[in-house]
Amino acid sequence: MAEQMKCVRFLGGSKVAVCDVPVPQCGPDEAVVRIAISAICGSELPSLRNGMRGSRYPNPGHEMAGVVETAGATCRVRVGQRVGIQVMNGCGQCRHCAQGDLEHCVSGVDVLSGAHCEYVLAPETCLVPLPDDLDWEPAVLLCGDTLGTPFRALSRLGDAHGGQSAAIFGCGPIGLGALIWLKFYGANVIVSEPNAYRRELAARLGADVVLDPGREDVVDRVREETGGGADICLDCSESQRTLLDALDAAGIHGRVAWIGEKPAATVSPSGQVIRKELTMVGSWYFTVSDFYEQLALYRRGLSVSGLITHRFKITEAQEAYDLFAAGASGKVVFRHDIPG
Ligand SMILES: [Zn+2]
Ligand SMILES: [Zn+2]
Repeated sequence: MAEQMKCVRFLGGSKVAVCDVPVPQCGPDEAVVRIAISAICGSELPSLRNGMRGSRYPNPGHEMAGVVETAGATCRVRVGQRVGIQVMNGCGQCRHCAQGDLEHCVSGVDVLSGAHCEYVLAPETCLVPLPDDLDWEPAVLLCGDTLGTPFRALSRLGDAHGGQSAAIFGCGPIGLGALIWLKFYGANVIVSEPNAYRRELAARLGADVVLDPGREDVVDRVREETGGGADICLDCSESQRTLLDALDAAGIHGRVAWIGEKPAATVSPSGQVIRKELTMVGSWYFTVSDFYEQLALYRRGLSVSGLITHRFKITEAQEAYDLFAAGASGKVVFRHDIPG
């Protein structure tokens, strides 16, 4: 194994450097994974602008898959095993960890970071063995937030199937992932997205109706298209307005998931929620068991092609982030030249 590796660093002000840093060494219950693919996530953008303040990790990125390069003495994973890395790590002992809900660990979750490197150090508990025949691109999508987060939100809302109508507010990678799932389930899907590139991409990925919130009243349009309101509404945007749009576009007995993070909002409970008898969930992340369910559905025909629109080498990181931050892409990945 090499002693130095390339690694993406955020310098603040949307500037990116590719540094040479030492390859990590693993402790007994850890492994060093040679990264084959890592994906840029929208949640990296605040750190891209401001630097990695508040993180105990110096490097960005939390969606990745690769091959175990070295494994510690007690790490039950073999060298050469293909793995995804689930980045939420908990104590492994508390009741949430016992259910695989590591992100809710009572001792506090540790969110691993540093995917955009040639090698990543990961605790054994974060390694998800991948089947040999799963290509890297579906692997990084199925192991990462893009498909996992909307999959879990939809699972928790329950009963998404053909004949139902759904509206997605915001078509960044999470919204596009939600679209992929809802089309797989057979729903009729309306999307609302301000960015022209992403509207076109949503149409290519199967959206039945594509709305531009800058040009039309999207709540009215969803009501029109669905005969009164959608069965399922998903807020996948960081915009303040879409959180309420998702409530207002839902029909009687509609089901709403809030996924796009935002710190505050003013809701009118009687008119927007209670009298429509909405079912609502807030949904943050997903678990390893969700990954295995997703993998089973992928085997049954879930198509993820088209979701990744751009591929870069790690040395082209600035170009990759400039493109992604401008919204002129779907999912953007770094590919490393390793076999498999
Ligand atoms: Zn993410
Ligand atoms: Zn725990």
